[in-house]
Amino acid sequence: MAAKIIDGKKMADALLDKAKAKAAKLPTKPCLAIVLVGENPASLVYTKKKHDACARVGIESRNIHLPANASEKEIITAVHKLNRDNAVDGILVQVPLPDGVSEDRVLAEVALEKDVDGFHPANFGKLALGLPGIVPCTPKGVIHMLKESGVALSGKHAVVIGRSRIVGKPLALLLLNENCTLSICHSKTKDVGAMTRQADIICVAVGKPKTLRADMVKEGAIVIDAGTNREGEKLVGDVDFEAVKGKASLITPVPGGVGPMTIAMLIENTLYCYGQRRSR
Ligand code: NAP
Repeated sequence: MAAKIIDGKKMADALLDKAKAKAAKLPTKPCLAIVLVGENPASLVYTKKKHDACARVGIESRNIHLPANASEKEIITAVHKLNRDNAVDGILVQVPLPDGVSEDRVLAEVALEKDVDGFHPANFGKLALGLPGIVPCTPKGVIHMLKESGVALSGKHAVVIGRSRIVGKPLALLLLNENCTLSICHSKTKDVGAMTRQADIICVAVGKPKTLRADMVKEGAIVIDAGTNREGEKLVGDVDFEAVKGKASLITPVPGGVGPMTIAMLIENTLYCYGQRRSR
């Protein structure tokens, strides 16, 4: 079987066009503040993409760039200032934060109603309970891609590889909320292939190329690759794409799959926060 490729770039472009039309009708410009600490090369690329997407859809974006040696207290002070700033609708703290700074403590300081990444423990709790709230961008993008591709999620056996706060765990919760039967694999899982071979849907978010090989995939399975790894100049995912696409029925590419959807969902979440705050 040759898999159909899910075009994340095309889906994201359509969402950004919709967001642009929506933003143009608002009485004021929504504003997203992005806090970047240090000079992590990947974070510099990701935050630039986020600022560019804001400009594209007509959302104001602020760049709060703190030095790599900023203390946890200084980062939290910057977050508190943005919490109090009535012109700011969304706050994103780019992770990873430098060594010695607790991401847990910093992310818990973002005002709940401005938490565009959905990483605040209370938003995460709502997700776990299946209550409406702000949902982390990458997992939200994955669910959108699956639904937009016509996948009926209810009753499917989904296997998520990875259990991070930003991708694996929230994605697993979303799939469970969609009535999937769920398995989660991680670095201590004894036989990942034994799990994935049973799966109708496999989502990989590990950060290691070729984590998912063709022999680990059931014929006709749906494969979502959230991985982004640099191999020299090339960007590759966590899936052995060329081999797995011969077995899967649907597959996301890297680049052009989950990545662009993450940005589109960030814009969606910023508009959501704007709407929630301004309607109160
Ligand atoms: P992370 O925090 O490092 O988490 C990696 C997860 O993979 C952990 O849960 C780890 O298990 C698990 N793992 C590691 N080795 C494994 C193995 N051999 N078998 C099974 N599980 C294994 O990474 P992340 O932040 O979730 O990111 C994962 C990937 O997604 C990265 O490539 C990242 O760049 C990418 N990403 C992409 C986007 C996007 O927009 N496309 C957004 C975010 C992240 P333990 O929990 O046991 O350590």
